Order: sequence, then C-alpha cells, then structure tokens
Amino acid sequence: MAASGFGWRRLFFVPRGGLPVIVNIMVAYPSGPSERSRWILAAREGIERLTVDSQRPSAWMIEQERQADGQRQDGVTVFLVNRECPWRCAMCDLWRSTTTAPIPMGDIVRQLDWVLTNVGERPLSWIKLYNAGSFFDAGAIPIEDHAAIAERCSRFDRVILECHPSLIGPRVLQFRGLLPARTKLEIAMGLETVHPEALEKLNKRITPQSFRSAAEFLRSHDCDLRTFLLVRPPFIRAEECLRWLRLSIDFALDCGSNPVVLIPTRIGNGAMEQLLALGEFSLPGLDLLEAGVQYCVELGRGRVFADLWDLERFLTPADEFGQRRARLEAINLTQQLAPDEAGIRTGTVG
Ligand code: SF4
Repeated sequence: MAASGFGWRRLFFVPRGGLPVIVNIMVAYPSGPSERSRWILAAREGIERLTVDSQRPSAWMIEQERQADGQRQDGVTVFLVNRECPWRCAMCDLWRSTTTAPIPMGDIVRQLDWVLTNVGERPLSWIKLYNAGSFFDAGAIPIEDHAAIAERCSRFDRVILECHPSLIGPRVLQFRGLLPARTKLEIAMGLETVHPEALEKLNKRITPQSFRSAAEFLRSHDCDLRTFLLVRPPFIRAEECLRWLRLSIDFALDCGSNPVVLIPTRIGNGAMEQLLALGEFSLPGLDLLEAGVQYCVELGRGRVFADLWDLERFLTPADEFGQRRARLEAINLTQQLAPDEAGIRTGTVG
C-alpha cells in the first residue's frame, strides 16, 4: 500500500491471487494554513502553466469604465508577467500566467513600453497594472523599476494597482510620491468575502479587520480603493451565498471602496475542481452575479462592476445569454437598472 498527493490519496491493493488495483480516495480540505497551502499546490498536478515572456505582458486591452464622477473614460488594462504570488489562495488561477522565479530588473518596464507603443497617442485617462499578485511584492515587481514605471504612468489621471492587504504600507506612499500630483493612485485589493470561516479557508491569510486596516491606511493617505469580491466562494452553503455577498458589499462600501468588483468564482486551477468534488463548492449561476450587481446599484453608495470575463462558462440557456450579458455591460457603464427591473431576480438565487 502507498500514498501520494494531498488532495487525493492513491491506494494500491493487491487482492490475493489477483492483479493490483489502484483506488483514488479524496482527502478532505485541511484545517491548518500550512497544510492547506500544500493541498492547494498538490491539486495543481496536471494543470499547465501558460507560456509567458517576461518582456511582454500576458495581455492588454483598451476598456471604457465609468468613473466616480459619472464620466465614462477610456483606459488601458495591462496584465503584467512576473514571478508568482507567494500566497496560495484556494480559488486563484492567476499563477498560470506567472513565472516561477523573479524576472530581470527592467523587464516590467519593457512590458509597459511595449503596450504604450501599441497604444500610441490614443487619449486614455487611466491605466490598470494587474500583475497576478501584488504590485508591492518586491519579488514580483522590483523596487528599482518603480521610478521608471511611475514615469510611464505620468500621462494618466489615474493609476490602478493591485495588492494584497498585508503589503499596504510605506511602499505605497513611496510609489505615489513618484507620480505627478494630478495622478490619483487607486489600489485594488481582494476581500473575497466577509464570511469569516470561508475567508479563513480561502487561505488568503487576511481577516475582514486586516482588510479594513489596509483600507483605512489608503484612505488616510488619499489613495482610492477598489475591492474584489467573489460571487459564490467555496465553503458557503448555496442558500447563504446571496446574503453573504450582500454583507460583503456592505463591508467593502463601509471601507470606502468605490468601485466594488464582483467576480464569479471559477474552476480551472485544480483546487477548485477538488472542492467541487468534495461538495465544498458549486459553480455560481448568472442569477447570483445579477442579484449582487442589482443590490449594489440600488444601494447607490458606490459603483459596482460585474466582471464579465469568460462569462460564457455559466450555465445559462444560450438564447438568454447574449441579452443578459448585454444588460450587465450596460449596468457597468450606467450604474442604473432599467426602470422596470427593480425588485426582480434578487430572491431566487443560490
Ligand atoms: S493573493 Fe491574489 S494573486 Fe495571490 S494567490 Fe491569493 S488571489 Fe492569487
């Protein structure tokens, strides 16, 4: 008999007089953070990293986004390539487009220059630098590159960076000091959920309180906050998901977040497939995303954006899908529901 892996245990039986039999038995999700990290890493087995080049971003796109003052402004989102994030969150698949070792100094600037050359003179008011981790993780983005990055960003009115709450501190202020006074710094942080047990099990190593402290630091230093929330995170019973999504939206708004971004939880990293098989997770339906967006719009306390990336994977009748996606796109840009929509759909999701 032998054993391997964290998520699965493989047992070899040799029945008397018969051929060896292999039985895969799933191992429950561990309760301790270190064991969880090992379980999540082991669950990656068979999931390939994507081929990346440290001198090119993995993707970039021009988008329009509604600003806090109601204007719609064009901007560019850049998906930088750098070393993998050191945290091991159960739902995260961003590691697939990262490198396993730090990249050479100057390569982030080369990635940025490549995008800006392609963008040309097009008038853009904002830039998002998303790096599949934390901008202020020195192992991902070398500190020595900060000045050159800030110089490239100086043409924008707003610079949006993502960061784990525990890395919010003096480095944020040092980077902000490199930007022109007219350029606003906005930090995007993943809160994911305020369900205490689910948040702990997600393995992000944050609490709602530590998120709030990071948010207060940003606010007290005149930085804006964008919050990512998961729609249908694992470890929450289906019938409880909408209630916790609403509570999470409330919490993010209380922390001064504007906007709040709702991201449907997806599979594809190995760990989520195993949690699905263990009954700890089920795929979100479009209804839940719609209900969260509607709740936040009706509150009127801050913008809400539905993350529409890869929305096709939701189990929705194909004839409805185009119409429902178009509706969410319209709400993202207008922050308004159609006049006859108030009160529909919000009570029937799970
Ligand atoms: S902190 Fe963010 S990037 Fe890092 S593993 Fe967690 S979700 Fe992924």
